[in-house]
Amino acid sequence: MHEENSLNETLKVVIVGHVDHGKSTLIGRIMYDLGQIKDGKYDELVSVSKKRGETFEWAYLMDSFQTERNQGITIDTTQTFFKTQKRNYILIDAPGHKEFLRNMITGASSADIATLIVDVNEGVKEQTKKHGYLLKLLGLSKVIVVINKMDKVSYNKDYFLKVKNEITNYLNLLSVDINQIIPISAREGENIYKKSKKMPWYSGYNVIEAFDKHNLGSISKNLPLRLPVQDIYKINDKRIIVGKIESGEISSGDEVFFSPSSSAAYIKSIEVWGSKKDHAFHGECIGLTIDDEIFVERGNIISTKKSPPKLVNNFEANIFWLSDQALEVGKNYLIRITSGEYRVKIEGIKKIINTNDLSHKINKKVLKNEVAEVTLYSQFIIPVDDFSDNAATSRFSIIENFNVVGGGIINSKNYPDQREKNIEGNKNIVPTNFAISETDRTLKLKHRPGIIWFTGLSGSGKSTIAKEIEKRLFFKGYNIFILDGDNLRLGLNKDLNFSPEDRMENIRRTSEVAALFANAGFLVIAALISPYKSERKKARSIRPEIFREVYIKSSIEKCLERDVKGLYAKAKRGKIKYFTGLSAPYEEPDEPDLILNTEKKKINPVVKELERFIVKEFGIL
Ligand code: GDP
Repeated sequence: MHEENSLNETLKVVIVGHVDHGKSTLIGRIMYDLGQIKDGKYDELVSVSKKRGETFEWAYLMDSFQTERNQGITIDTTQTFFKTQKRNYILIDAPGHKEFLRNMITGASSADIATLIVDVNEGVKEQTKKHGYLLKLLGLSKVIVVINKMDKVSYNKDYFLKVKNEITNYLNLLSVDINQIIPISAREGENIYKKSKKMPWYSGYNVIEAFDKHNLGSISKNLPLRLPVQDIYKINDKRIIVGKIESGEISSGDEVFFSPSSSAAYIKSIEVWGSKKDHAFHGECIGLTIDDEIFVERGNIISTKKSPPKLVNNFEANIFWLSDQALEVGKNYLIRITSGEYRVKIEGIKKIINTNDLSHKINKKVLKNEVAEVTLYSQFIIPVDDFSDNAATSRFSIIENFNVVGGGIINSKNYPDQREKNIEGNKNIVPTNFAISETDRTLKLKHRPGIIWFTGLSGSGKSTIAKEIEKRLFFKGYNIFILDGDNLRLGLNKDLNFSPEDRMENIRRTSEVAALFANAGFLVIAALISPYKSERKKARSIRPEIFREVYIKSSIEKCLERDVKGLYAKAKRGKIKYFTGLSAPYEEPDEPDLILNTEKKKINPVVKELERFIVKEFGIL
């Protein structure tokens, strides 16, 4: 046995790879080499195998050190504990059966180190690639690769290099960082715990060294504080907020910020098992008391005020799907991000990815074992990070009927932060009542005021239709005016670009102006791409009773073909950042008040249809 390790740190290791490439053997061997098998167990199993005329398998040892078997409904992940001089480890074994992938998500999503095992004889197989891809999706982007069964190729360096090349090429394609590539023989114990004498040409770490050298601390430590609230305990009068620090650190007395509520408080104490401490770091499970009775619930994210997570109700995700029942657009699922659970709707499927060669296709469904890029929508605001910023707070599992049916990572870069701006300064403003009411204006102008909000892709026909309807109704006596997105961007909105936040501000200002025009009695046509559902919803909320959403519908292919302004061509050449439909999302309305299909119909009948609609809704009295 080893001396006690000095660090009280436990890292989770997951071993994945193609069936029969040697996962169980490697685990058995690690345990044996580290002296963590019960006395006599090994000899006993060897002699039993001999008696039966079978070859001894290291995997047989598994039963003897299985300390915990997680018997969830579908989960069958074995956890094995071992310790080195440096620290404690939990080996998560996701067995290589049918439900391998499912086990892997639940097993690997919380793992700190991923080990990908490849049989030197077989090389990189389809499953090796899929697992490599999934590790990336799970945020385990620093992988230790072990090339196993070197004994079978007489420890020949060339065989190793060939497979090393193969796996390096693939992982590079995925931008997965390779920590180490180690030639091993799990069965013979070469390069597991000791440097192999059989492979003098290899001078890197052995497997245990690679685990011990793996330094995840520096990554999470430098990230902003993220402490998802796991639970809230009431002990007498004390409220203790409990959770695991996923990244960053906190100290007693710090001001902390809660998302999504955006409320702040100071830390009164940090408590661990009844005793108090001044500081706590990433990886630690702690309890907190704060100086304020603010509302806190499970799933909230504690951060600093300066670097909070993003609040979104819309985002893209790379997901993998494990259920026999296909994932479909329009369906609702429960997702779990850290400790929070949220109901989300599948807005769209952008592409299905072939993990073998990373090519992709378009489909309306995601089938079992497929990997896809999808867009999701939640009724409620969710605090998240973008995957490139913080893996822990941006990966999620998808749950249906209490089963994990998929998982993924969040890409929120293209979506605006929904956090309300600080509006403290506006508290003392009292609005003036107008002397002339809207009814007065309606009676004079002989039509009701209204906001007709056009949404649709660039090139779908918004401006053309707007101009036509303006002419027709103006000459019929309507007070009508167009707020055109492009025109506004030359004046009122000229300080805004096309980033998600600026698009959000663009819509906010335009909807406020539209509401002012409506107050003045006008029928306003707002013609803006307005790609986000959430923003259109906000625009509607200013004057919901007179707001009508009109979807100017045309497929992206048709808009590309028209390309009236030559913008699609430019965007395709990479000259325009955030171009809707190509490099930025467009979310179709769920229930627009009117859909005008410009793909199939000519402009005239479309405008007539719109005219009938407007006259019916706001018509001349
Ligand atoms: P798993 O499906 O990935 O868990 O693979 P196993 O650990 O069950 O191994 C599959 C087979 O490969 C077993 O018969 C092992 O004895 C054999 N095996 C595993 N590692 C080695 C090795 O290093 N050398 C040789 N020759 N055979 C190995």
